[in-house]
Amino acid sequence: MRETDAKDVFTPEDFTEEQRMMRDSVKEFIDKEVIPKKPQFEKKDYALTEDVMRKAGELGLLGIAVPEEYDGMGMDFVTTMLVCDYISGATGSIATAFGAHTGIGTMPIVLYGNEEQKKKYLPKLATGEWFGSYALTEPEAGSDANSGKTTATLSEDGKHYLISGQKMWISNAGFADLLIVFARIEDDKYITSFIVENDPENGISMGEEENKLGIHSSSTRQVFFSDTKVPVENMLSERGNGFKIAMNVLNIGRIKLAGACLDAQRRVLGLSTVYAKERKQFKTPIAEFGAIKFKLAEMAMYTYVSESGTYRAAKDIDNRLKLRIEAGEDPATAELKAVEEFAIECSILKVAASEYMQYSADEGVQIYGGMGFSADAPMESAWRDARISRIYEGTNEINRMLTIGMLLKKAMRGHVNILEPAMKVAEELTSIPSFDTPDYSAFLSEEKAILKNLKKVFLMVAGAAVQKYGEELEEHQQLLLAASDILIDIYMVESAILRTEKNAERNGENSQKIQLAMTQLFLYKTVDKITQRAKEGIVSFAEGDEQRMMLMGLRRFTKYQEYPNITELRKNIAENIISNNGYKL
Ligand SMILES: Cc1cc2nc3c(=O)[nH]c(=O)nc-3n(C[C@H](O)[C@H](O)[C@H](O)COP(=O)(O)OP(=O)(O)OC[C@H]3O[C@@H](n4cnc5c(N)ncnc54)[C@H](O)[C@@H]3O)c2cc1C
Repeated sequence: MRETDAKDVFTPEDFTEEQRMMRDSVKEFIDKEVIPKKPQFEKKDYALTEDVMRKAGELGLLGIAVPEEYDGMGMDFVTTMLVCDYISGATGSIATAFGAHTGIGTMPIVLYGNEEQKKKYLPKLATGEWFGSYALTEPEAGSDANSGKTTATLSEDGKHYLISGQKMWISNAGFADLLIVFARIEDDKYITSFIVENDPENGISMGEEENKLGIHSSSTRQVFFSDTKVPVENMLSERGNGFKIAMNVLNIGRIKLAGACLDAQRRVLGLSTVYAKERKQFKTPIAEFGAIKFKLAEMAMYTYVSESGTYRAAKDIDNRLKLRIEAGEDPATAELKAVEEFAIECSILKVAASEYMQYSADEGVQIYGGMGFSADAPMESAWRDARISRIYEGTNEINRMLTIGMLLKKAMRGHVNILEPAMKVAEELTSIPSFDTPDYSAFLSEEKAILKNLKKVFLMVAGAAVQKYGEELEEHQQLLLAASDILIDIYMVESAILRTEKNAERNGENSQKIQLAMTQLFLYKTVDKITQRAKEGIVSFAEGDEQRMMLMGLRRFTKYQEYPNITELRKNIAENIISNNGYKL
């Protein structure tokens, strides 16, 4: 809730020359190896996914987050994000296969493996000689991931664990050489994590490929273990540490998933723009209609906002990671702790980017009209592929609960101070508001003042809710979800404001006309949405005078001195997108 200076945030305009080159080579790879084969990906060609993954391995792209001493590229966090972003734009099948292998399939060993485990497995995973997958979910243990029934029993000679159980929805299972498997030892409270080599002779069998709504060429199967012998030295970290590993690895997976939604948004917008310019109705290209401009502008706005938040948080993680290494932590612990510090942002971004992506794909279908519904045009698969991002890596409901839950926990432990500022806001509510007319002539000054007030809305609602329910707040899920939506929107709009401000400071305000329009449009929508969500929250727990006072506060904190002309903003954004044949910032 504190103020951030624009010069302290990282924006996509800050990429180094090296990062830009990396981006261009990933784009080239996707344009050559994936785009021409799009129809095949929709025909459940799992072998093609494996083939593209192998080629990505040959280029070193599977080793981006693996340290160099284990044959990886050991890239910084922002660059790994960049690769995730651009490798994922063409089809959800590759996005999922890549994410499952480089993220949840490999990172548990990078972060928790001992030296022998790292030496044995990481070079194979980094080069694509082996493929990895992550087997946490079970038929009866999805969101409640620690409730799995898979067991690990120590053999009589104490040399092996025998794993038995059933895992479900396992990405890359069809071609995985290695699985990170979570199982319970005896009656342990928490599950334990194991590195398991895939060997059908060792009690491992697979179900058929799942018949899915989207990501058609991503392999997803059930995996069955029947007394699968796993050497004791293949336990990852310690007994009972599996749930922690699962959650921490998912934190990284979540922000990477946000990255994986970015180029998909750019591509959907680009294709929709070109289609709208070519498609004529009423003797007019449909791109000239206000209804279509509305959609193009909003799709561009969401793309800009998700880029702003994702790269801001990625660099924040990078910075913390470097500081921790400088302070003497080993790189794996430093990365774990750095990501843990930004776990709230990881969940925020996963929710926001997946929902913006879904919106863009949906409007893409609409712009294509009947052709949007046709499997022969690209929007149909984009729409289906987008849907999964709201479900895996923790559903968006679970991630919403996590954002607010983690923040309140941090506040209770005194790691972030929200209770004191919340009390100040409560005091402000009873004071007489200033009737002075502020000077908002400076660039983005009104927007920044509104952002400050939106933070007060959050403090007002969350502070009063904590006071009202204390520990029992957990049981008021609808209220928590409203608070979480407010928090998510504040982070995203702040990221857009800071990016535009930073770029205006270095390149001049005139260079940021479209970026300013997207920022203002998003802020306008955010104010509306926060007003609605805060109102729902307030009326759920406050009555009478308290309710009236808080609703009055809400009006005060969501007030514009002068509204921007939203229609004009959309028109300007859309015209820029149309003249550039897509999102080219
Ligand atoms: C294509 C695909 C690929 C996948 N890949 C992998 C993989 O590689 N490895 C792996 O381990 N898993 C994988 N998963 C599993 C995925 O992570 C789970 O599907 C997801 O976590 C949700 O679990 P569930 O399906 O059991 O849904 P449930 O947990 O049954 O949830 C159903 C609904 O209830 C809601 N809900 C549940 N609990 C709560 C609560 N406490 N509060 C509020 N709402 C709640 C959920 O948000 C959801 O809307 C994959 C899934 C799919 C579909």
